[in-house]
Amino acid sequence: MKPKILLIYTGGTIGMMKDPETKALRAFDFSKLLVHIPEIKQLDCEIATYSFDNPMDSSDMNLKEWRKLGDVINENYDDYEGFVVLHGSDTMSYTGSTLSFMFENLTKPIILTGSQLPIGDLRTDAKENLITSLQLAIQSKEGTPIIKEVCIYFEYQLYRANRTAKMNAERFEAFSSPNYPSLAISGVHLNIDQNLLWKGPVNDPAFAKAEQQKSSVPNTNQMRYRPQLIDDVLVLKLFPGITKEVVRAICTIPGLKGIILETYGSGNAPTKKWFVNTLKEALENNIRIVNVTQCIGGAVAMGKYETSIQLKKIGLVSGKDITTEAAIAKMMYLLQHTDSLASFRKYFETSLRGEITEESLNEKDCQ
Ligand code: ASP
Repeated sequence: MKPKILLIYTGGTIGMMKDPETKALRAFDFSKLLVHIPEIKQLDCEIATYSFDNPMDSSDMNLKEWRKLGDVINENYDDYEGFVVLHGSDTMSYTGSTLSFMFENLTKPIILTGSQLPIGDLRTDAKENLITSLQLAIQSKEGTPIIKEVCIYFEYQLYRANRTAKMNAERFEAFSSPNYPSLAISGVHLNIDQNLLWKGPVNDPAFAKAEQQKSSVPNTNQMRYRPQLIDDVLVLKLFPGITKEVVRAICTIPGLKGIILETYGSGNAPTKKWFVNTLKEALENNIRIVNVTQCIGGAVAMGKYETSIQLKKIGLVSGKDITTEAAIAKMMYLLQHTDSLASFRKYFETSLRGEITEESLNEKDCQ
């Protein structure tokens, strides 16, 4: 029996064509896309397809679309060996990160891919990206899928999705995973590094709660779909000269529940009283604040410099080496599944899906 893969089309450049009037690229329908890759029929798997009714540019992705995508995967979970999602590259890291939290204890691959040039373009990168994603999704050992996590495949590399960021709007190599190596490289052979793949353990607040309340009998081998997210969150990127008025206005937005604070270097921020006090007040108003670095690579280590000691003291949560994309997704997820700052902190600073390195080199300096 050939493995079965569900290929889901959400939109993105891969399926775009130039609008004859405006000359801007816009998504077109799935059947036209598949005509351009008759090669996929040669793959050793059965491919079923599902298309969003209105394929979109990924800049329009939001919670509703994530839910739709999650539901499609969840409803078809038992019938397929893996899932390949065609998605615009602009917000692919956000979607990949979010899916990684929505699906706890995955037993199959969900691979997102797309392209920098439309599939109809002579120089397109779409074909290789799609064909290799499908090949990766069917890799198995003794009848079980090898990859059991949410990944992004782009330009010869397979990444853990929640470790990625889009880095380049021009090159075919659009993504990077600065704090975790590629899970697989596609060259003459498909080299999957089995040691880098996610293998658990189950470290999830919702799982822990269920276990505690005995509301469900937790089975560690079973996938659980948890699509609820809370989106009253924002990213505040620091820059020299940011004013008191701006920080105060942001920290007092009605209904705000979480801030991802993009700080400098290893988690440093202004030491000015007004700044620290404004954050402190926000924390007292039950707003969770997570410290992530603006740097492309490396980790936050509060307490390494004087400029971060205060942040630690007032109760900021350390994002360690998480990307901003994954931090947003994790915050939306944890706001839903934790009910105190202590448990939010505990789970944010723990690796739930391989999204952070629990003990980074920088942090060791602070102990
Ligand atoms: N704007 C496109 C999108 O994200 C870019 C791409 O697909 O690469 O949908």
